[in-house]
Amino acid sequence: MHKVLVVGGAGYIGSHMVKRLGQLGCAVTTLDNLSSGHRDAVLCGDFIHGDLANTALLARLLQPGRFDAVMHFASFIQVGESVQDPAKYYENNVTNTLHLLGAMRAARVNRFIFSSTAATFGEPQYSPIDERHPQQPINPYGRSKLMIEQVLEDYDRAYGLKSVCLRYFNAAGADPDGELGERHEPETHLIPLVLQAASGRRSHISVFGRDYDTPDGTCIRDYIHINDLCEAHWLSLQSLMQGAGSQRYNLGNGQGFSVQAVIEAAQRVTGRTIAVQDAPLREGDPARLVADATLARQQLGWRPQFADLDTLVRHAWAWEQRMAGLT
Ligand code: UDP
Repeated sequence: MHKVLVVGGAGYIGSHMVKRLGQLGCAVTTLDNLSSGHRDAVLCGDFIHGDLANTALLARLLQPGRFDAVMHFASFIQVGESVQDPAKYYENNVTNTLHLLGAMRAARVNRFIFSSTAATFGEPQYSPIDERHPQQPINPYGRSKLMIEQVLEDYDRAYGLKSVCLRYFNAAGADPDGELGERHEPETHLIPLVLQAASGRRSHISVFGRDYDTPDGTCIRDYIHINDLCEAHWLSLQSLMQGAGSQRYNLGNGQGFSVQAVIEAAQRVTGRTIAVQDAPLREGDPARLVADATLARQQLGWRPQFADLDTLVRHAWAWEQRMAGLT
């Protein structure tokens, strides 16, 4: 039974991971400051309400022998906000992660699974994007994540801290059991926003740009089901527990869907008409972001189970109906 500290375990991806680890028989502890997470989303294990800036708390929590590994989901994720207020991003995503890594070193916990992002690549130079693609982030969010990837390379070399950096493309969907889902405040992601327009919690969905160089003119993204992401974390944990070295993987389906295709899928799944309004493009949105996840498939044996867009939207819709009080 692995002993795992999940930092940010009350958030969207973290909460699904905590549930999964609990089901797999791990001893899970969640540390979360509830700045955006929800206490009631932590369905198993111990919960500690605390902040990574609190180094005394980290020193108390990370006692030698208490944890085999740490998974780190606690970061700010809004690109636009990171441009407006970079200090917020560097302080939390970089400085606080350094505090966490420092406490891990002191406690000799040397396995770390890090939530990284496609935003570390910047403007795609080719598609799909594999791990050899140059990393030239174009905003503070992407830079903050890349900085930690680089720190982790140095910490492995100097201190033997083994890490897996998982670069998510577009995390989406919800727990197929209907217990968990996406609850960002404010919500900025396409699929929950489209479904809020379907449920009536929003008047319409805005399409940010229709003049991109794509078949229907709207942006193409690689939506990956939350449970498939969790599976990749579990496989990464097992590989570290078996003594594998540090690794970086791009996680996506390798299949892109346009904004228009997502809206059509939502209409099919919900059976509702969704009001759509064209809006100016959002700065910094590349036309196409699609992952080549061959390496994760080869090395981890990762096989996404929910590659079908309608299935992913159906799970997210079940959750949205619950949030909207429709079920
Ligand atoms: N998008 C949109 N309307 C919205 C929210 C998002 O057209 O209200 C588009 C956005 O421009 C991007 C895609 O949907 O092309 C996915 O955006 P999201 O914010 O979900 O994820 P990102 O790709 O930015 O990580």
